[in-house]
Amino acid sequence: MGLYLDLVFDIPAKTTFSYRRDEKGESAVGKRAMAPFGRREVLGYIVAERDSLPPGVDEAAVKTVRRVVDSEPLFEKRDIALAEWIAAYYLCSLGQALSAMIPSGRRPGSYPSLPDDENEITAAPLALSDEQQRALDAIITPEGTQRNTKENSASLPPMFYLYGITGSGKTEVFLRAAEYMIRAGKSVIYLVPEISLTHQTAEAIGKRFGQAAATLHSGMSGANRLTEWMRIKSGEVRIVVGPRSAIFAPVQNLGLIIIDEEHDGSYKSGNTPRYHARQCAMHRCSSEGALLVMGSATPSAEAWKLMGEGTIKRLDLSRRLSGGKPPEIRAVSLEHTEGCLTAELKEEIRKTAQMGRQTILFLNRRGFAYFYHCPSCGFELSCKHCSVSLTYHKSRGRAVCHYCGYSEVPPGACPQCGSLEAGFTGFGTEMIEEEVRRTFPELRVRRADADSTSKKGSLEETLGMFRSGMVDILLGTQMVAKGLNFPGVRLVGVILADTGLHLPDFRAAERTFSLIVQVAGRAGRYFPDGKVIVQTFRSSDPVITRSCALDVEGFFSAELEQRKLLRFPPWSRLIRFTVRARDAVKADRAINRLAHLARDLIPPGSDALGPAECPIGIIAGNHRRQLILRGASMGPLHGAARSLLERYEKGKDSGVYLEVDVDPVSLL
Ligand code: ADP
Ligand code: ZN
Ligand code: ZN
Repeated sequence: MGLYLDLVFDIPAKTTFSYRRDEKGESAVGKRAMAPFGRREVLGYIVAERDSLPPGVDEAAVKTVRRVVDSEPLFEKRDIALAEWIAAYYLCSLGQALSAMIPSGRRPGSYPSLPDDENEITAAPLALSDEQQRALDAIITPEGTQRNTKENSASLPPMFYLYGITGSGKTEVFLRAAEYMIRAGKSVIYLVPEISLTHQTAEAIGKRFGQAAATLHSGMSGANRLTEWMRIKSGEVRIVVGPRSAIFAPVQNLGLIIIDEEHDGSYKSGNTPRYHARQCAMHRCSSEGALLVMGSATPSAEAWKLMGEGTIKRLDLSRRLSGGKPPEIRAVSLEHTEGCLTAELKEEIRKTAQMGRQTILFLNRRGFAYFYHCPSCGFELSCKHCSVSLTYHKSRGRAVCHYCGYSEVPPGACPQCGSLEAGFTGFGTEMIEEEVRRTFPELRVRRADADSTSKKGSLEETLGMFRSGMVDILLGTQMVAKGLNFPGVRLVGVILADTGLHLPDFRAAERTFSLIVQVAGRAGRYFPDGKVIVQTFRSSDPVITRSCALDVEGFFSAELEQRKLLRFPPWSRLIRFTVRARDAVKADRAINRLAHLARDLIPPGSDALGPAECPIGIIAGNHRRQLILRGASMGPLHGAARSLLERYEKGKDSGVYLEVDVDPVSLL
């Protein structure tokens, strides 16, 4: 038992702080403790014990830990090592990494639990198809499970990818692989995108594994999550299902990590540390000797490249096993259409209703109309605090900012030139709803987007009604595109496929492609006559034509070629630095200083993009500027970024905040 303790806190400072043990002597590595910090008392993590103070620390200045919070350590050595890796990779402090790992419950959310899908849950395992069996055999070779040695922890773990359309039976293969591992005495982490939309998987796992399964999600209270954490840590739980943060679950004897819908954007954290669950999974698998199995119908560009190189073993599932077939997909031009529904789409909606089947309409924009534009003077109505246009929400009678929530009463005439022709153009889900109701007064319509489902339980209710056939048309944003299966759906209509295509982000095409293919996958899961209509202003854009042909190979071969030319990931690695400040001059000064410091540090073969204003230059009154370091591999970039941060910290201006994003997925 050392005399002193090293604590870290959830702050950017990358040092440890020394304290004397608490008087009761309850301190231990891996527990949390309240400790005096400046003039406050702050929750810290005990990461080491020591007999003498580190050089330079004055004995007289050392304070005593006030109170130890946990009776049992939350973190083992292995967990602290994982946090150290996160801190080193994502350029944050150890304290920030540790607090991202534990279930704090600081941000309570309300995640509705979705109604059970009786069709989906099979307690008695199905007989696997040949393709499924082959995939499973490839994953669970005996060498695979005997890899629990740490000898090659620096190298990549064995990685597999179930590549197949929605409904091709990926879930069943994941579950079989999990069963195999559990029988071999190992544990499994099963990652899913947002848990609210993937309730079916969690439910299926619960049914199959009973008490050995635990679900972690952000809607749980802090206390509940902590209880589950300790149950997992004790080894009682052998399979953990959850979103992004479940990658840190302290399972014993990890054998397998599953990442369902690997392409999904929710696997990347939006706060410090901006970790990606796939990157963390690769690290955990290699250091704990486990296998990594991912799956999707639309892999990420990163995964696609690794499959091409053979680093990830690709396992194809080419058929729908539930009686469905890949749907027929047609792109339809929106030009010369009055309103938002083309004649073709209306015709199919009608036909579908006559057959007694259901329609999903998808649009990735909520609100009524998208932006306010004056044709005479070019004026656009944007948020007072953000450089984005305001969206008209008819139900509220206001123009709303989707970034900061600011809203105002929309002007009657152009505020700049007085023209009466100024007004909102472009459509959102609210407008579609209105047009659909007007066009099909006899059909029952429900809308599911962030506005219509903010009330607890209302998304659940809408989806339940749709599933049970009480609704003919379900209309909404991504909420209707992900994860859910509705057996009665014949038609999927994409109202406007181009919404994300023009964004100044190198992943815009990939996102658009994957979203269209994913939404299309909602049609024809269980019947061979699924139809998809994709409305667009860019019928000849290759992203649109390839997504309509479900041509994943064609899309990626063009996309990867393009990215190679432009030296963007997956052909390079990026570290993005974003500064924000209330004062534009301060923001400029900070980013220029950062860029100046970077000039001497950029390793050979690397370069810097910027300094520049971010594509969204102001959010909530903060001016945003960015600098992106780009290199062929992460090693040298990390080194440069570390020195850069150290030098930058020394001359820091007040009121300026710096965010670091390693492997950014969005550059907006
Ligand atoms: P994915 O995860 O690829 O989207 P699912 O695992 O949800 O696909 O499977 C789609 C449907 O096919 C489910 O209803 C599932 O019960 C069924 N299914 C899966 N494997 C088989 C099989 N071997 N035989 C028959 N039906 C199967
Ligand atoms: Zn005007
Ligand atoms: Zn705003």
